[in-house]
Amino acid sequence: MSSCALASRLLTRSRSTAVHTSRSRRARAASTTSTAPPSDRSSFFRLTALGFVSAAGAGTYVFLRDARAGAEELAALNERNPVGTTAKRERPLTPLSTLIRTYVVYSFCSVPALVDWAPGILAALSAVPGLKQVTEAVVRATFFNQFVGGDTAEDALPLIEELRAQNTGCLFAYSVEVDETEAAGHGPAQESRAVTSVHKQVVRETLHCIDVAADYEDKHTTGRTGRRTWVAIKLSAMVPDAESLRRLSQYLVSTRPRVNPPVAFPGCPLPTDLDVLSSPSVTGTLTQRDIAVLRELREDLLVICTRAQARGVRLIFDAEYSWYEPAIDAFTLDMMRHFNKVPQRTKKSSWFGSVRQLEQPSKTVQPLVYATYQAYLRRTPEYLAQSIAAARDGGYSLGVKLVRGAYHPHEVAAHSAVASSSDQSTHSLSISPDAEPPVWTEKADSDARYNACVRELIAAVRADVGNATPTIGVLFGTHNWESANLIVDELVRQGLGQPDAQGVVHVGDEVAERVTMGQLYGMTAALTNYLVDRIHSSSPFVIKYIPYGQLSEVMPYLSRRAIENKSVLGNGTAQEERRRAAAEIVARILR
Ligand SMILES: Cc1cc2nc3c(=O)[nH]c(=O)nc-3n(C[C@H](O)[C@H](O)[C@H](O)COP(=O)(O)OP(=O)(O)OC[C@H]3O[C@@H](n4cnc5c(N)ncnc54)[C@H](O)[C@@H]3O)c2cc1C
Repeated sequence: MSSCALASRLLTRSRSTAVHTSRSRRARAASTTSTAPPSDRSSFFRLTALGFVSAAGAGTYVFLRDARAGAEELAALNERNPVGTTAKRERPLTPLSTLIRTYVVYSFCSVPALVDWAPGILAALSAVPGLKQVTEAVVRATFFNQFVGGDTAEDALPLIEELRAQNTGCLFAYSVEVDETEAAGHGPAQESRAVTSVHKQVVRETLHCIDVAADYEDKHTTGRTGRRTWVAIKLSAMVPDAESLRRLSQYLVSTRPRVNPPVAFPGCPLPTDLDVLSSPSVTGTLTQRDIAVLRELREDLLVICTRAQARGVRLIFDAEYSWYEPAIDAFTLDMMRHFNKVPQRTKKSSWFGSVRQLEQPSKTVQPLVYATYQAYLRRTPEYLAQSIAAARDGGYSLGVKLVRGAYHPHEVAAHSAVASSSDQSTHSLSISPDAEPPVWTEKADSDARYNACVRELIAAVRADVGNATPTIGVLFGTHNWESANLIVDELVRQGLGQPDAQGVVHVGDEVAERVTMGQLYGMTAALTNYLVDRIHSSSPFVIKYIPYGQLSEVMPYLSRRAIENKSVLGNGTAQEERRRAAAEIVARILR
C-alpha cells in the first residue's frame, strides 16, 4: 500500500475515531448528568485526560492530513520533474528523528504569528534562570540541528563528508550576523562587540575555516579544479560597528558621479570607491574612527583573500541589507580586481612572421572572489550588465552569486519608515534617496529579474567556455523549482549540457568549473536531490550553504531562516516542507 493510500485510510479512521470519541463523550456527559455529580477532583482529571486525548486526536488528524497531501505533492513533483529511476542515486535513509525534527521545525515556520513572537518569547525565556538552559536545549534540538552544521568548523566535517558522498559540495560560513537593532546602534551588543573584538574573532575564524575547507579538498581532489568546499563571508561581522559600513555607504551614494541612464539605489561600485580611505581629510558622514575601522577591514580582507588564494578556496562575499551594500560592493570589487586577475595573453611570432596570442592558464582558482547579486533589488539587471563589461575591460574574472535576497520584509519596513516620517531626527536604517523602495514589492518582479539574470549569466558562460582561465564563475542560489529548472534548461539550450534519454544532463568540467547551484542546508532537500540526480558532472555541481557557530552566535541567522521561511509562505514553502516530512515519516514507518 502506498504511503498516500495508508495516510488516507488512517486519516479516515482518525476522523471517525474523533467523531466516535465526541459522540461517546456526549453520551457519557448525558448519562452523568442524570446520575449523581462526580467529585471535583475526578472531574478535573477526566477533563484533563479528555483535553489530552482531543489534542492528540487533532494532532494525529493534522499530521495524517499533511502526510496525504505531502505524498500527493511528491508524486506530482516527480511527474513534473522526471529523472529516469536508474539515474537516481542510492541515498542512505534519512533518520526518522531527522524527519520528525523537520516536521516540527516547519510546522513552527508555518505559523506566521509564532515566528514573529519567537524572538521575544526566546528572550523572555532565556532571561529566567533555569529556563535558559531548557530553552537552549530545545532550540538546539530543533532549529540549530536543522539549519546549522555544528558549533565549530571541525564539527561540520562529518556532514560535509556525507554530502560529498552524494556528489554535493559545501559553502561553508562562520555565521555571525548583525541584527538590525544592533546595527542601528541601539543594541546592548554594541558595546560588548567593541570591547571583546568579536570582529577580530570572526576574521581569525574565517582564516581557520579556509584552512579546514582546504585540508578537506586536498584529501579529495587533485590540482586546482573540482574543489567544491568554498567559504562565505559577511562583512558586517568583520567590523566592530556595522554603522561604519552604513556611513561609508551614505558617503558613496552621495559622492559617486551620476550615470546616465540612472541606476536605482544602491547603484554600481567604482574602482575609485575606496580612495576615501587614503584621503588625508575626512569628509561627509564618515568619522576618523570609521576610516580607521574600514582601513583595518581592507587589510583583514587582503589577508583572508591571500590565504584563500594560496589554499585554493573560493570566497563568496554575501549580500546584506541595502544600507550596507554600497560599501560591501566597494570592498568586493576591490578584492576582485586584485585577486581575480586573468593572465594576460602573450604575443608570439610564428615562422611566417604572423603574431599569435597565447594564454597562460591561471595557477590559482578562478574566479577566487564572488560578489552576491540580489534579484529583489531594482538595480540588479543594470548592475550585472555593468559588472560583466567592467570585468572584461579590467582584465579580471567576475564571480557572481545570484540570489533573490533574504531581507525583503526589513527592506520594505525600513523604506516605509523613512517615507512616512516627517521628523528628520528619527533614526531609520534605510539610506536610499529614491522615492521607491530599493526592492521590488511584487514577487513576480523579483522572479522575472532572477530569471532574466540566469539567461544573461549562462550566455556569458557560454561565451567564456574554451578560455584556459575562466573569466566568469556563477553560483545560482535558489530554492525555487521553476528557477532551478530554468537554469538546467538554459544550460541545455545554450549547448553547455547534453541531455540523455533518462533526462539526465551531462555537464563537462569546463562548465562545472564555471557554474554551480546551491541551496541552504536544512531547506528543500527534495530540490537538492533532484538536481544532483538530474545533472551529472565529475565534481559536485550542487552545493549546500552550511553555517556553523555556537548557538548564541548563530541566533540571528536562525531567526532570519524562520522569518525567511515565513516571508516565502505566500508560496507555501514552509507548509510544503512540513507536508513532505510528514509523507516521508509515514513512508518510513511503512517500510
Ligand atoms: C547558496 C545560497 C546563498 C545565499 N546567500 C545570500 C546572500 O548572500 N544574501 C541574501 O540576501 N540572501 C542569500 N541567500 C538567501 C536567498 O536570498 C533566499 O534563499 C531567497 O531569497 C529565497 O528565494 P528563492 O530563490 O529560494 O525562491 P522563492 O522562495 O521563490 O522566493 C522568495 C523570495 O522572493 C522575494 N520576495 C518575496 N516576496 C516578495 C515581494 N512581495 N516582492 C518582491 N520580492 C519578493 C524575496 O527575496 C524572498 O526571499 C542565499 C541562498 C542560497 C541558497
